[in-house]
Amino acid sequence: MTEPKTLREASCADDYDPDSMPVDKARALIRTFLQPVTATERVHVRQALDRVLAADVFSPLDVPGHDNSAMDGYAIRFADLVPGGETALRRVGESFAGRPSEVAVGPGQCVRIFTGAVMPAGADTVVMQERATEDADGVRIAPGAVATTGQNRRFAGEDLRKGQVVFRTGQPVHPAELGMMASLGIGEVTVFRRLRVAFFSTGDELKSIGTPLAAGEIYDSNRYTLYGMLTRLSCDVIDMGVVPDVPDELERAFASAAAAADVVITSGGVSVGEADFVKQLMDKLGEVLFWKIAMKPGRPLAYGKIGHAHFFGLPGNPVSVMVTFYHFVQDALRILQGRRDVATPPAFKVPLAAPIRKAPGRTEFQRGILTPDGKGGYTARTTGNQGSGILSSMSQANCFIVLAADTGNCAVGDLVEVQLLEGLI
Ligand code: AMP
Ligand code: MG
Repeated sequence: MTEPKTLREASCADDYDPDSMPVDKARALIRTFLQPVTATERVHVRQALDRVLAADVFSPLDVPGHDNSAMDGYAIRFADLVPGGETALRRVGESFAGRPSEVAVGPGQCVRIFTGAVMPAGADTVVMQERATEDADGVRIAPGAVATTGQNRRFAGEDLRKGQVVFRTGQPVHPAELGMMASLGIGEVTVFRRLRVAFFSTGDELKSIGTPLAAGEIYDSNRYTLYGMLTRLSCDVIDMGVVPDVPDELERAFASAAAAADVVITSGGVSVGEADFVKQLMDKLGEVLFWKIAMKPGRPLAYGKIGHAHFFGLPGNPVSVMVTFYHFVQDALRILQGRRDVATPPAFKVPLAAPIRKAPGRTEFQRGILTPDGKGGYTARTTGNQGSGILSSMSQANCFIVLAADTGNCAVGDLVEVQLLEGLI
């Protein structure tokens, strides 16, 4: 099947069923409409953290710049070592990190050397200090202290060669990249501009912090989880507040969000009953598909374009917002930010510590707690009540337990797939 060029084309495909959209299919379909930003900016290396490189980075240097020692010990000539016996050498100098020896190592000689210090001329190998003794008579190397020429010696350029591509366009900058750039003396890099993301909550029942609640009203939490998730992705966020379920107000909010941002995210208003309302607006303002995703939580989801802006209409329930964000929006934003390494997050299998009830039909993203089993492995159990309004389940969880659509009830010991909520970097 060729990829659909327009949202309308996508919605006409033979196997397109908006009322039962598999998670993977929705993800793949969204991907076909994502064009990364192209504008770039030069930033200081520290400001590049969590941004995406917009140009290849080449090494201006060999790293390390010189052959140096991997150990504290003695720089020697391998050929001097007595095979199978002890070797006596005369110490002729010292090489410290940042303060190389000015003396070369001749036959029968050695130089005291420390980790990171430049190898003195003439020496080809380092003997670790634990295999040598030194007194007024000289240095004695234990039999078999080194096996081969070049041992315990780091070679110039063994990490990076001058002129080599170190990072490719599309790579995100994490702490290791900051360190590597610093090690190359690179002070500025070119990154893609930040993505502008506007978001608002819809619902007559929603109040913002600082306003007293009348009967039946609730505080808007979705704008806070969205703020957190978007900020962590280094987006420029435009918080447009709460918009009541009033057509004129919604229309104004959608139009100004789409004019100001690359991406518009809303929560609420896309479930059955309410959807028709937003649907009518979208027919007027843009081209948007409304899906019932075969997943739990997070069934209703809208994706499309309003003018140039991408639009994600997330469900209203607080857990659904987070789950749909992580499974549909996050990767889309990364692609729009210029990242080229966006892959499905890794998952692995662990045995269940407690049974799970599940009806076949939808992919479930249960909130789970992964715990060491005391034998070097891990087990998982759910956080308890899995209602899509129970936001504390997201707070308690350290993983999603991902149960495939066709899975039914699971017993203790059954292997289930988990996705970690917190990555190392
Ligand atoms: P909806 O999708 O608009 O029908 O909302 C589904 C449920 O999520 C309702 O119980 C809403 O009150 C709740 N909800 C919607 N938006 C928010 C929000 N921003 N913060 C907290 N709860 C919300
Ligand atoms: Mg609502």
